[in-house]
Amino acid sequence: MDLTSPSTIKEIRDRHNFQLSKSLGQNFITDRNVLDQIISGAGVSEGDLVIEIGPGIGVLTAEAAEIAARVIAIEIDRNLIPILKETLSSYDNVEVINQDVLKTDITEIINRAKADKLFTGKVRVIGNLPYYITTPIIMKLLEEGVPVDSITVMMQKEVADRIRSGPGNKAYGAISVAVQYYCDVERVANVPKEVFVPRPKVDSTVLNLLPLSAEGSGHEETGGRRVELADEKAFFNCVKAAFAQRRKTLLNSLSSAGGMDKEKVKLLLGRAGIDPGRRAETLTIEEFGRLANEMAGGR
Ligand code: SAM
Repeated sequence: MDLTSPSTIKEIRDRHNFQLSKSLGQNFITDRNVLDQIISGAGVSEGDLVIEIGPGIGVLTAEAAEIAARVIAIEIDRNLIPILKETLSSYDNVEVINQDVLKTDITEIINRAKADKLFTGKVRVIGNLPYYITTPIIMKLLEEGVPVDSITVMMQKEVADRIRSGPGNKAYGAISVAVQYYCDVERVANVPKEVFVPRPKVDSTVLNLLPLSAEGSGHEETGGRRVELADEKAFFNCVKAAFAQRRKTLLNSLSSAGGMDKEKVKLLLGRAGIDPGRRAETLTIEEFGRLANEMAGGR
């Protein structure tokens, strides 16, 4: 059964009387190249545990199951469960969990698979993410410190551009800083909207997020983070306040959104070695880190 074929997808939908849900972000992949790009971009190998977010009718799941030791797919739509049972029936290394990924304890799933000796290799998250919750899914994985070696996911191109952007770029913002605080970010591929059914309005990008907390990433000294912080909360508050009014100077944005008087902000910026006339979009993560550490110490 070729699950990338639009006529096969239609036949399965008709037979199961399955209605596509726009609100669940259901856009299915119909191009084998894209599957290959995700699987090889993730580096899925024999022995690995693959956690897939949103398997849909199982097109990417089957591809992962051909290689990995174990695939655990988390799908919210219960109407897809009988379909997945059928399309994945020839694999005995796949488990489908009918749950909202945002409410799923993924660390517990990984620990259980490890305790049951279901894999010996790396832990890799893959998925063609439901667009309406791309950022919450990524931030959940990162903030909860889910122990994974890689996260290789497709999302709207515009969101991917924001995530991988750096200082001086228009797309650089709080989400870029937040993700890059936890991960190295690589672009795997751009994917045109034409390869999905139904066709979304925008193009997509596959990104590889490589957590700095993964074994061998070389960031052990800073606890698997981009920078060492006195107070993570102060850092994220500072980044948020600085970008809330991104066209203002740091002196102005931090004193209005950050609730501090200008003299204090000036002093802290000075101590961090940052010119108060600069804007948030010019600061590196290291500079945000220095500033947040001054703020945390200067209260
Ligand atoms: N992997 C399939 C493919 O590429 O053809 C489907 C991808 S589709 C963009 C997103 C999938 O995520 C859908 O199957 C949708 O039902 C599922 N989904 C949406 N919200 C979810 C949630 N909160 N938790 C788990 N799965 C979700």
